[in-house]
Amino acid sequence: MSAADATVVRMAQASTLIDLRSRLTGSLLLPGDDGYDDARRAWNLAVDQRPAAVAIPADVADVQQIVRSAAANGLGVLTQPNGHSAGADLDDVVLIRPRAFDEVTIDVDRRVARVGAGVNWGRVLTALDGSGLVALAGSNPEVNTVAYSLAGGHSLFARSYGLQSPAVTAVELVDASGEVARVTQDSDPELMWALRGAGGLFGVVTTIEFSLFDGDELYGGKLTFTSDRASDLLSAVFELARSEPTLGLAFGMMNFPDAPFVPEPMRGKTLASVDVLHIGGFAGGNQIIAPLRALGTPVSDSTAVFGIGSLAEVAAEPTNPMLYEDWSSASSGYDATSAQRLVDAFFEASAAGLTRIEVRPFGGSLLAGSRDHAVAGRIDAASYVGASVIGPSLESLAAAERAFAPLDAAVASTPATGDVPTFLDGRATLGDAFDPSAIARLKALKAQRDPSDVIRGARRLSA
Ligand SMILES: Cc1cc2nc3c(=O)[nH]c(=O)nc-3n(C[C@H](O)[C@H](O)[C@H](O)COP(=O)(O)OP(=O)(O)OC[C@H]3O[C@@H](n4cnc5c(N)ncnc54)[C@H](O)[C@@H]3O)c2cc1C
Repeated sequence: MSAADATVVRMAQASTLIDLRSRLTGSLLLPGDDGYDDARRAWNLAVDQRPAAVAIPADVADVQQIVRSAAANGLGVLTQPNGHSAGADLDDVVLIRPRAFDEVTIDVDRRVARVGAGVNWGRVLTALDGSGLVALAGSNPEVNTVAYSLAGGHSLFARSYGLQSPAVTAVELVDASGEVARVTQDSDPELMWALRGAGGLFGVVTTIEFSLFDGDELYGGKLTFTSDRASDLLSAVFELARSEPTLGLAFGMMNFPDAPFVPEPMRGKTLASVDVLHIGGFAGGNQIIAPLRALGTPVSDSTAVFGIGSLAEVAAEPTNPMLYEDWSSASSGYDATSAQRLVDAFFEASAAGLTRIEVRPFGGSLLAGSRDHAVAGRIDAASYVGASVIGPSLESLAAAERAFAPLDAAVASTPATGDVPTFLDGRATLGDAFDPSAIARLKALKAQRDPSDVIRGARRLSA
């Protein structure tokens, strides 16, 4: 298309969007409008996304109008509640902020939660407190429940109960033609298979329902050690993962800045930690994690018996928007040699600006799962390895690729196929999470249900 033709198309789209705005109960912001810059901002502040418009629908009818108008005018639609996974080019995209869909209903008898597209995990966990049931929520309360549930969703419960996507029982959405559907295993098994892992590509989801699991009493927390214990700690984590297939485990190393906002004893230090979660009480949990305590006196220890409402305190991650570049990989390494290699790579990468690394052993129920009803129903890799370079400025992220190089080299010797889609970094496609036959099946479904590619996802199906 010539530059002149592109300008004509853009002007036509702008006039369509102005017309759309006049028909919505909710709001729609265009470039230049007051509030557009606030509305387009992603949680990852390093991403400068400039969508054709930002829509804040008030109800399902608004979502239908947005999708139909975009489809009729050659625009795409991407739903982005927060923007942890932001990074796609949004020039020809209407970005939907689904904050009006704020339902949280817990049905204890049926052991099902019903959650709207605008709800982050923190609210769901608070609603579950005291119910005796747990949801398979991840480490951060500010992650959106629907986004996480549509794309795998790995929690400290995963080795007991599997990923969150297979636990999804119903999805209410507006499809690429603007029709409303309630999708279940019985109503549309092929679409349900895809929504359970590759979900963002098939509609604007307004509400989901998912199963809840037993977890009356939980024991766990974070044990933090000095960095000279790091490789012994990661080896012990791998050994525990093998001997205790239901224990939730996440190893981390972090270079804490020497800044007043960082509390002692972390300020200016490099520390190694492990997050643990045992479904059960103190006696059993404390005994199971004895090999970790045997490594020496920790710098800090937050292990305790707690309820599901306090789950986010285990990882105690920051919840404010930040500037970051992420890197991730699946790995087949599960032994002392790969532990040493990853810790060495962390130190080498730190010299080039790396902030943190995380290793989560898979196995347990993740390996026993099935892909019959969920594209993300089973994970074959032994572990996930993730890392980040975190701000303070855009300039400090410029060397991120150099910082990630030692990690690429470390995992190259323990390659693994498949990953959890929520863990994919900005360079990845869904082809890095699913095998080629699953990608072919997803492409066929996408071509059938959304041939004009109206619904955009955070990650493409393939390069
Ligand atoms: C600090 C932090 C901790 C994390 N911890 C974990 C963890 O423990 N386990 C884990 O598995 N992942 C974890 N993640 C990854 C997280 O699950 C993904 O980034 C996920 O995409 C959710 O991010 P979000 O809430 O910002 O959603 P967004 O980035 O806003 O959305 C992600 C994508 O989901 C799709 N989507 C979202 N809502 C809808 C909808 N209503 N309809 C259709 N499509 C939709 C879209 O394609 C969208 O681009 C973490 C991320 C961060 C930043």
